[in-house]
Amino acid sequence: MDGLPGHSPVLTASESGCDSPPVLRERGQREVFCGLTGIVWLHRKIQDAFFLVVGSRTCAHLIQSAAGVMIFAEPRFATAIIEEKDLAGLADANEELDRVVARLIARRPDIKLLFLVGSCPSEVIKLDLSRAAQRLSREMAPAVRVLSYSGSGIETTFTQGEDACLAALVPEMPHSDSASPELLVVGALADVVEDQFRRVFTDLGIEKVSFFPPRRAGELPAVGPNTKMLLAQPFLADTARLLEARGAEYLSAPFPLGAEGTTMWLRAAADAFDISSSRFAQATDAPRARAASALSRFHDQLTGKRIFMFPDSQLEIPLARFLARELGMQLTEIGTPYLHRTHLAAELALMPEGVALSEGQDVDRQLDRCRAYRPDLTVCGLGLANPLEAEGMATKWSIELLFSPIQGYDQAGDLAELFARPLVRRTKLRV
Ligand code: SF4
Repeated sequence: MDGLPGHSPVLTASESGCDSPPVLRERGQREVFCGLTGIVWLHRKIQDAFFLVVGSRTCAHLIQSAAGVMIFAEPRFATAIIEEKDLAGLADANEELDRVVARLIARRPDIKLLFLVGSCPSEVIKLDLSRAAQRLSREMAPAVRVLSYSGSGIETTFTQGEDACLAALVPEMPHSDSASPELLVVGALADVVEDQFRRVFTDLGIEKVSFFPPRRAGELPAVGPNTKMLLAQPFLADTARLLEARGAEYLSAPFPLGAEGTTMWLRAAADAFDISSSRFAQATDAPRARAASALSRFHDQLTGKRIFMFPDSQLEIPLARFLARELGMQLTEIGTPYLHRTHLAAELALMPEGVALSEGQDVDRQLDRCRAYRPDLTVCGLGLANPLEAEGMATKWSIELLFSPIQGYDQAGDLAELFARPLVRRTKLRV
């Protein structure tokens, strides 16, 4: 990092007390989406849940444009708009909220789980949504369960919405006193990816496997001292902490991105369940070879290309590991909003030497560093993509990585293609 503009204090590996690379920590102005964005993929995952944002018209616009809802569809999210009179304390926001929820449930009897999702405005007026959820849950039990979490963007980044939502569900999970180990895969995965992983776990001989969140609100998996927890996403710090408090054992592994990441992730589960290496090879050799062959198609486009990542999705470190090790991309700076040293330990151990890691953001300084690197591809949020494109830089929206199925062997090629596409498009534009 020396010699680059906007240099802030660097925490060295020895100061941080572990073997991982040094990390530049910044605490300045940030350019990220808020946690409401998570509703877009969570409402598709939990198919009988409804997400009621208690927020402003801005919040409603964000959700509607991110989810791209058709006007005649019956979406499973909405916004209860806080009006100016609520903000001025002239109306009882709790009474209004109760009225909105009663109307919603009367019209939509299919809703089994209702999330009241807090926002910046609801936090500013100190509307206590957890008490509101308890009150409404009591009134509507047993037909509807009401929970709450915050999607506010005041101190968070957009993937923390999923963490907050899942953390709100943990106390609702039944207790397991199973005598034999059970595998719990934690983090929202596209159904197609979940089905693929379930087949591999069956081939491995791991019988008791649950995914959290489940597809239906009534199918919450049980958790207890014999639960082995495998994280499918790197942004679930609070959820994992609560599951550990319920007895679950965390399995350290890289995340299932690319052939290598998927193999090491599955291996962590296999080791925890004493699966033999021959059985592991039997279950994974063929899909791993398929993934390697799918990836080989992108070497020409990606190998040797330099990539810079702004902190946005918290997927940055696993993605960078995949792009460097399996596609030969050169990492310049890899930024992440938060770096969970335990959950990312296996990833950090695989990072190539010389990569500049940064945590948090001071956006102007980071833009200067990005311009100085002049990377071939920059991964960033939507707010930075257009200005950088206007400066002649190729960009990739990080949010797309949350909206696409990218985990597992069969998605490895699609994941590589997401990074190759902006480079190919530019080549075509130049011709
Ligand atoms: S940042 Fe705050 S005000 Fe803006 S959309 Fe998100 S929750 Fe609403």
